[in-house]
Amino acid sequence: MIPRIRIAHLPTPIEPLPRLSAVLGGPQLWVKRDDQTGLALGGNKTRKLEFVMAEAQAHGAQMLITVGAVQSNHCRQTAALAARFGLKCTLVLFGDVPQTPSGNYLLDRLFGAEVVWTKREDYEEVLQDVFHKAWSEGKRPFLIPLGASTATGAVAYAYAFKEFIEQGGEADWMVLASSSAGTQAGLVLGARLSGWHGRILGISVDHPADWVKARVAELATQAAERLGKAIHVSADEIDVNDEYIGAGYGVLGEREIEAIHLFARHEGLLLDPVYTGRAAAGLIDLIRRGFFKSNDRILFWHTGGVPALFAERYAPYLL
Ligand SMILES: *Cc1c(COP(=O)(O)O)cnc(C)c1O
Repeated sequence: MIPRIRIAHLPTPIEPLPRLSAVLGGPQLWVKRDDQTGLALGGNKTRKLEFVMAEAQAHGAQMLITVGAVQSNHCRQTAALAARFGLKCTLVLFGDVPQTPSGNYLLDRLFGAEVVWTKREDYEEVLQDVFHKAWSEGKRPFLIPLGASTATGAVAYAYAFKEFIEQGGEADWMVLASSSAGTQAGLVLGARLSGWHGRILGISVDHPADWVKARVAELATQAAERLGKAIHVSADEIDVNDEYIGAGYGVLGEREIEAIHLFARHEGLLLDPVYTGRAAAGLIDLIRRGFFKSNDRILFWHTGGVPALFAERYAPYLL
C-alpha cells in the first residue's frame, strides 16, 4: 500500500445531466463531482495531495513549497492542507500581481501562505531557489511540482478510477481537462488495471496534444511502477484534443463563456473559467460536430476550479 492521508470527501457523487443532454440533443451526459472533494472548496488536487502529503510526512516535512498561476487551484488546495496540518507554506506564483486579492489567490492568503512572485518562464529556477533557501534555513521544506503531477500524485487518480468502477459507473467516454497530465495519467492507469473498455479524452487547456500524450504515458507508467505493476503505457494509446486552447492558458474566450452558461442554466452546475469551462466547451463542440455516437454515455470528470469564477480577472466577463 502506498501511504495516504485521508482528507477528501469520497466517493464524490456521479450525477446525470439530463437537461443539458436534451439541450445538446446528443449523447447521455453524466458528471463526476471532483469539484466536491471537500478541502477548501475542492478540486482534483485534493486527491493527489492525499498521497503527496503522506510522502511529505515521510520526509519529515515542516513546510510545503509549490508553484502555479495566480489563480492556481492546486496552490489553493496545497495552502489549505498545509494550514490543516500545521505546516508552513510558500507558493511561487506567476502572472500579473493582482491589485486586489480575489478568487483562489484571496484564499491562498487566508490560509496564511507566503507568496513569491515570478514570471512564468522563470518559475522552475525560482522554485528551486526558494526550496534551497528554506532548506539552508533548516525549515524542512518539501517541494511539490506544478499541479502535483508526479508519479505519486497520479496514483491518486488510479484510485479515483477504481472508485468510479465501485460506484457502478458506466461510460463509453470520460472527458476531462488536462494540463500537467497527472489526472489523466492516473485515470488511464486505473482503466488499464481494471480492463475498462471505454476511452478517456483529455481536452488540453494549454499544451500541444503530443506533449500531453507523452506526459500522460510517462506518468501512467511511473505510477504503475509505484504500485508495483509492470505496465507500460505508450503515448499513442492516449486521447488528447488540443483544438480548444484558444488564446492560451487562462484566457477566457466565447466558447468557455457559452459552456459555463449552458451548465449553469440547464443544470445549476458551476464550471470554472480556466479548466472545466474549456474542457466542457470542447465536449460541447465535439457533440455538435457528431464526434460521439448518439447513444454514447459520456462522463464529464469535473476537476473543480470554481473559486476562479470569483477572480477579478474573470468575474466581470462572465455575463
Ligand atoms: C489542475 C487542474 C486540472 C488539470 O489537472 P492535471 O492533472 O494538471 O492535468 C484540471 N482542472 C482543474 C480545475 C485543475 O485545477
